[in-house]
Parts: sequence; C-alpha cells; structure tokens
Amino acid sequence: MTAETIIAADIRINARWLIPVQPANTVLDHQAVLIQGDRIAAIVTQEEADRRYRAKEVIDLPHHVLLPGLINTHGHAAMSLFRGMADDLPLMTWLNDHIWPAEGAFISEEFIADGTQLAMAEMLRTGTTTFSDMYFFPEIVAQLAHDAGMRAQVCFPLLDFPTPWGSGPEEYLVKGRAFIEQWQDNAFISPAIGPHAPYTVSDGPLTEAVALSKETGAAIQIHLHETAFEVADAMEKTGKRPMARMAELGLLGPNTQCVHMTQIDEADLGLLQSSGAHVIHCPESNLKLASGLSPVQRMRKAGVNVAIGTDGAASNNDLDLFGELGTAAMLAKAVAEDASALSAHEALAMATIAGARAIGREDELGSLEAGKLADVIAVDLSDPFLQPVYDPASHLVYSRHGRQVSHSWIGGVPQVQNGHLTRIDVPDLMLRVQNWADKIREQQSR
Ligand SMILES: [Zn+2]
Repeated sequence: MTAETIIAADIRINARWLIPVQPANTVLDHQAVLIQGDRIAAIVTQEEADRRYRAKEVIDLPHHVLLPGLINTHGHAAMSLFRGMADDLPLMTWLNDHIWPAEGAFISEEFIADGTQLAMAEMLRTGTTTFSDMYFFPEIVAQLAHDAGMRAQVCFPLLDFPTPWGSGPEEYLVKGRAFIEQWQDNAFISPAIGPHAPYTVSDGPLTEAVALSKETGAAIQIHLHETAFEVADAMEKTGKRPMARMAELGLLGPNTQCVHMTQIDEADLGLLQSSGAHVIHCPESNLKLASGLSPVQRMRKAGVNVAIGTDGAASNNDLDLFGELGTAAMLAKAVAEDASALSAHEALAMATIAGARAIGREDELGSLEAGKLADVIAVDLSDPFLQPVYDPASHLVYSRHGRQVSHSWIGGVPQVQNGHLTRIDVPDLMLRVQNWADKIREQQSR
C-alpha cells in the first residue's frame, strides 16, 4: 500500500449539500470545496478531503448548501438611492416625471459612489458575486467594485442627449473608449458598452458602438423591446421593429445582451437564434412597470441563452437575485401555461452559468468546478421554515425563507461571513445614505 500524497490548500469548505450547476440538475451530499489562491482546486467528498488534503483554514457548514456566486446581469446600481421614491407608475411617466428629473438634480460622482456601495452591500448579502451596471460615471463604479473585490461588468452609458457624465454621444464614446482601455483584462471588471435603448440612441452612435465592440471585444448591453409601446412607436416612426433595426446596424451578435425582450414575434426570435445574442430577463421590473411578459420558455426552447437581472432598485424594489429567481420561475410557468417551465434547477442555472455565458465569462464563472474562480456562496437551510429538506434547489427558488446567504467568497476572499459583510463599512454607508435620502425627500416634496 502506498501512502497518498497530501495536497495543500488555502481553504476547505465542508457543506451538507452542493449544487455545482454544471452538470445540470445535480445535488451532491457532504462535499468539500478546496480553494487554492483565487481558484477552486477540487471538489471531493469530505471523506476524500480528509485523506488527501490539508487546508490552512477549514469552514464547516453542516446545514448549508453551496452554490456558485450569483450573477446579476442587469442593473443600475446607484439607483438604489431612489428605492421606493416613485412607485405604481407606467414606464414613461416614471422616467419622464420622476427618475429623469431626480437624476438631473442629484447625479454626481458622490451620488454614484454612495448609491453603488449601497447596491453592492445588498447584492453581496443576497448572494450576488458578479453584477452588471449601466449608469453614469462607470469609472467610479468600476473602481469601487474592484476595491471591494466584487466582479462587475460595467457598461458606459451611450445616449443622444447630454447627461451629468458628458455632453453627448461623441464625448461618451471618447470617454468610453478610454474606460475600456483602462479596465480591459482585469479579473474583476469587464468594461462594456451600454447604449441605453433604440429610442434614445440614433443610428450614428449605435454604428460607432458596434465598431468599438468589434475593435476591443467589449460587450454591448442595450434595453430592447421593453414594452409594446416601444415597438409600436418605432414601427410608426421608422417602419421597423427595433430588433430589425438593431440587426441592420450589425448590433446583434454573441457579444450583445438584449435586456427585457417582452415583445417577440417569429422574426425577432429568428434574429436572436441566428445572431447568438443573449437575453437578460428582468421579471420583477417588467411586472412592476407593467412593461410586458417575456416569453422565457419559448426563447429557451429555441436555444436562446436567457440570463437574469434585477434592473435598478427603483423599479423592483430590491436587488435580491434569489427573489428574482422565484418570480422568474413562477412567471415562466404562467406565461407558458406549463408548470414544468423553468424548473428550480433551470432558474438557478439562469442566475449562474447563463449569466456567465451572457457576459463572456463562462470559462471562469457560473459553476462550481475545479479550475474555475472561487466565487462561492453558502445558504443556511437550518431554519424551521425550511424543514424538511428533500431538495435544496426547491427551497432556494420557491421558498421565501430559503435564501439566507450566510457566507460568500469571491476569488477565495471572504465577502460575507455568518451573514455579515466583511469589506463594506455598513454603519458609515448608512449615514451617507440617510444624507441623500433627506435631500431627495426635500426635492420630491417641492
Ligand atoms: Zn434597466
């Protein structure tokens, strides 16, 4: 008998259950995740880990399920400061009468920094380890996420009109190019291009966005077919559906993420299939703004990659991706009139591997597999509300109480320990948030 070589690791996490996401529909019992540096070195049974590994730090999670960190593929992080400010309004009234005036009054580097930190704190606490952002001052968002050790796809904004970030499309594109060059090849930040929507960006800047994406490899994320009104209005003004116009401009491709897509005819579906563009589903925002119902099951059956996002906290009103998954699974069934549509495991895949695929990081993120980056979360299922546990995936998606994120690591670095954030000073952040709330309340009451 030969003695086995003992392998060193930095961290060993022992958990009751593990959902690797890849392979699909799998729940493993009594596993150990070994982390070395920022990567997953191995996933083995605890018995095998005892025999073959020695870790510097061992974390026992006997009532917990481990899964890959969640990927929130669409949001406007700093809008967290507008949470609950204007509810129960249709999209265009909400934008024209509330959100855009408030943004005009308050958006500044400071506002973006505080609002983004608030969003990051909420996302980390609820299991998100990678988020996508499309908002002003992307350089600040990128720096904050990087410094907090959180992964982010940060889309610089592109619109026809001036904003606090720039005078118009020309300046946005110049600043955006510099932004991409600064952050390209960073393990935490994926710089991307964020043309707001077909109705706010004209053909010229969209064509330039496509060229910039081709040249740099940066992804494009755009709000598309969010409402029936958007499509009808475009038909009246241009004679084309926005999707058809995007296709003509060369904007649709495997490096493009189409956010919302509540309106889809056969031709739109064909364009999604042939281009390889991804869809980002934002069910709670669509429901709250009565934007429409995205035919998720139909797109998935057609082979389209559908990821998930919360959208901004002002139209949700939270950034809890687990909550979003529950809504997505329920809504997909109702829309497809099929209770088997979007199972719990499929919903979890949507928030992990599908998200990684959408942002072009499938090789490194989105599943618990040896060699991938160690972005891992643990959910505590010990609560009496969650007993018994036949299938942890079921509780994660369908039970409101099944989302108690107790731990998270990003690249092997702890971000949440026993429910507490390790790298964000929450009391200090709360003071700054309170300050903004006082100012916003005063402006809204004028
Ligand atoms: Zn949005």
